[in-house]
Amino acid sequence: GQDLVGRMLSRFGLERPPRRVHAVEEVSLTIREGEVVGVVGESGCGKSTLGRMIADILQPTTGEILHRGRPLGARRREKGAGLAVQMIFQDPFSSLNPRKRVGALIGEAPKVHGIVAREDLDDYVESLMERCGIDLAYKGRFAHQFSGGQRQRIGIARALAVKPELLVCDEAVSALDVSIQAQIVNLFMDLREELGLTYLFISHDLGVVEHVCDRVLVMYLGRIVESGPAAEIFRAPNHPYTKALLAGVPRIERRRTAYEPIEGDMPSPLAPPPGCRFHPRCPFATARCREETPALREIAPGRLSACHLNDATA
Ligand code: SF4
Ligand code: MG
Repeated sequence: GQDLVGRMLSRFGLERPPRRVHAVEEVSLTIREGEVVGVVGESGCGKSTLGRMIADILQPTTGEILHRGRPLGARRREKGAGLAVQMIFQDPFSSLNPRKRVGALIGEAPKVHGIVAREDLDDYVESLMERCGIDLAYKGRFAHQFSGGQRQRIGIARALAVKPELLVCDEAVSALDVSIQAQIVNLFMDLREELGLTYLFISHDLGVVEHVCDRVLVMYLGRIVESGPAAEIFRAPNHPYTKALLAGVPRIERRRTAYEPIEGDMPSPLAPPPGCRFHPRCPFATARCREETPALREIAPGRLSACHLNDATA
């Protein structure tokens, strides 16, 4: 498909005096229209920061994010065009006024952005509720009266109301019971079919990522260390960090894995190790790894990995 989001984000910094922390560095990625791209990595690896930049909630300090070749946000300034990217959080209501009724929550943004005429707003809200599997009888209720799964459906309807092309889902199903998780994942996939949506699916749940994603990005300490088709990465991970991450997944079919689960804690992003950032935890680290940063480069068509071990076989 066409490139929906293309970018060169070289650095994203959070100002935290006295020093600047780069939560995400030298990340370059493209998301194609209709793709479901997974982002995995331990907490603190920068995956949420990356998602927030792509959703236009945080601005990179250097670099840029393009949507259909134009700077992200350009569409925002066109009346009635909606917003290109929406973010779905673990709990969409943690930051919202609990005194607003469901209908008002869903209808708020399309009203503000002039997406539908005032007289059509009611029908529009109802069509979104139906699409997301929310009983129309709930329109006048307050969001806090709902269970996690229903709240997530309301959050999704609210996001869809501004006609996004890309949904950034940050641990969107992580807090839900397994059976509810499956329902919400199915809703995401139905919406993908019906609306041609594209997804960036950030999750620490590798099982869900393997199930829903076409392509996966593996992040470690603010950098992408491996990327490629999900099926290939899960079958044959290349980067030692990806191998360790997968080995840590308690799944029967992976019990016979040749890899050891990950050891130790992720170092602080305040003081990333020199060379390969994974070297303090990597069983294959050499002197070179401690000094030289491995470049993310193609190891097979559509697959990238940042590890010196690939030089021997290149
Ligand atoms: Fe391990 Fe070296 Fe590869 Fe880094 S570059 S993952 S330390 S082998
Ligand atoms: Mg996070």
